[in-house]
Amino acid sequence: MENQLPPAVTKIVKESGDVKIHTFVAPESFISNATHVIETKNQCIVIDGQFVVPYALQFREYVDAIGKPISRVYLSHGHPDHFFGIGAAFADCEIYALQETIDFIKVAGESIRDELAKGYGDFVTKTIAVPQNVITAGEETIDGVKLEHVLHKDTETEFHLSIKLPELDTYIVQDLVYSGAHIYLTKDIPHWVEILESIRDSEFSLFLPGHGEPADKKELQSNIEYLNFANSLLNAGTTAEALKAALLEKYPHLTGAGIFDIYLPRLFA
Ligand SMILES: [Zn+2]
Repeated sequence: MENQLPPAVTKIVKESGDVKIHTFVAPESFISNATHVIETKNQCIVIDGQFVVPYALQFREYVDAIGKPISRVYLSHGHPDHFFGIGAAFADCEIYALQETIDFIKVAGESIRDELAKGYGDFVTKTIAVPQNVITAGEETIDGVKLEHVLHKDTETEFHLSIKLPELDTYIVQDLVYSGAHIYLTKDIPHWVEILESIRDSEFSLFLPGHGEPADKKELQSNIEYLNFANSLLNAGTTAEALKAALLEKYPHLTGAGIFDIYLPRLFA
């Protein structure tokens, strides 16, 4: 099945001294899942694990080809398009996540897997990997690179881990930002917008999203405007169909329209 799949996009997005940051973006048909590698002098640090099995395995091959051991895998949040691939391709690694994310996967991971396997079949991982290590907000230095872990509550998901790399002018924001794509909407839009505004106004200039290509501040602003527009429709009592139609009409250039079918039933439940 792998031969018929469109290719992922891989690139080095930042290079400074001994450190390189790589990104791996799945094609649009697989909601442009973006996962990243911080390559330090002696090791690789992986952020998220892709969604479907073929791209998880390709991502693992990509990381292995760098030729340095994977010291840890950070999982940003408990959505299957980020943790399924860790089960498929990174289960042998030390996996780190927020306590809330670990608890959620312990309780719900297997039933989400069962449910999605009905639709996606072999694309869905056969096993779930529960992260063994808890990460808390704060700073740490790994192989000479400073990482600052930030917990954001109630945005695209209830508990979300973002990672700042101040020495590299890079902020790994995962699903706080959908780059060039329609956004997975939740009930927490106003709070989410406040967080995006503070990130937009921060000292960073490169933002690595969980979906789509690396982003700049202009893209953050576009996300803020998209969220505000969607929120105004929701406040006015829009239906699911009308919301989808309005967003498709206003943002015809955005990719990932498949996301509507994923979040609308939940948002309007
Ligand atoms: Zn996602």
